[in-house]
Amino acid sequence: MRRKTKLIHGGIVGDPTTGAVSVPIYQVSTYKQDGVGNHKGFEYSRTGNPTRHALEELIKDLEGGKAGFAFGSGMAAITAVIMLFDSGDHVILTDDVYGGTYRVITKVLNRFGIEATFVDTSDLDNIKDAIQPNTKAVYIETPTNPLLKITDIEAAAKLAKENGLLTIVDNTFSTPYWQTPISYGADIVLHSATKYLGGHSDVVAGLVVVNSDQLAEDLHFVQNSTGGILGPQDSWLLIRGIKTLGIRMEETESNTKAIVEFLQGHSAVKKVYYPGIESHPNHDIAKKQAQGFGGMVSFDVGSEENADKLLAKLKYFTLAESLGAVESLISVPARMTHASIPKDRRDELGITDGLVRISVGLEDAEDLIEDLIQALKQ
Ligand SMILES: *Cc1c(COP(=O)(O)O)cnc(C)c1O
Repeated sequence: MRRKTKLIHGGIVGDPTTGAVSVPIYQVSTYKQDGVGNHKGFEYSRTGNPTRHALEELIKDLEGGKAGFAFGSGMAAITAVIMLFDSGDHVILTDDVYGGTYRVITKVLNRFGIEATFVDTSDLDNIKDAIQPNTKAVYIETPTNPLLKITDIEAAAKLAKENGLLTIVDNTFSTPYWQTPISYGADIVLHSATKYLGGHSDVVAGLVVVNSDQLAEDLHFVQNSTGGILGPQDSWLLIRGIKTLGIRMEETESNTKAIVEFLQGHSAVKKVYYPGIESHPNHDIAKKQAQGFGGMVSFDVGSEENADKLLAKLKYFTLAESLGAVESLISVPARMTHASIPKDRRDELGITDGLVRISVGLEDAEDLIEDLIQALKQ
């Protein structure tokens, strides 16, 4: 199956009992047993629900792994994955990781003895130098949020394997339509499905795919024990969103290309961050491991004041956190998604007060560019 076909025919299709072409929403908590332990595969919906199961099978097929898991949010998915580790274990993470990931690792999971080091994983030597005797995993986000840095998944996974570490990839920005980290050696892939997979700003969800039977068993144990599952309604919405992922990602890609070209030629824009630009430090790696560069672009307009002026004038870019939706969104990472990272740390990373991040939507590119032209006028 090719990629667009798999989005529609992967996982579990329809309902064999009724012939319904879409998977029904099984709004149910418990299941009748014909004798103790004699059931049809479902006992209680925290453990397993048919609608959620259909979604879990679908994401498993899309990422090319052994098992899929659906959670109530991306953060619930990330937390469950880190709960695979023990107190005293150490994880190496990408330094400009999603703000919520930084927060849960440094303010919540630290209380349970999870140790972490944040390094620029786009340079493999940094990962090598951060490995300790108690290190258990390398956690990569690529491209990163909001500076669109790229880590070589294949090289990082090879280094991790040589040192007996798991490789975990947050694949939210690329989606399996553009990038399948398991095919480059990753052990665990996770998503905030709230973004491109859902795609319509109407559901909060997280997905995980693991690439071994042991990890599948361990993560199901955590999911069932801690209970951060996705409900059947939201599972169904995600399945629906995923069916159009291919055409949405293709259209996003062409809109983004046009916008990046425009921004690069504009005098009010100091710097454009996008892996599709040839001068991006890891453009070649992005090209090697992903079939598209995505719809996230960050650019620096020089100051907080300039950023505010831009935001006030834009008509089609909605000021909002989140990304990956049909509508174009804009945010100021320093004061929004990355506000939970201390200012001195933000400056260290390059997340300046004048940095704005756009998530390019599915409007006409001409309208989006005209909007940027009028908003960037001094
Ligand atoms: C949004 C996001 C998350 C968190 O997901 P939620 O669904 O908001 O809990 C994690 N990683 C990345 C890259 C994100 O963009």
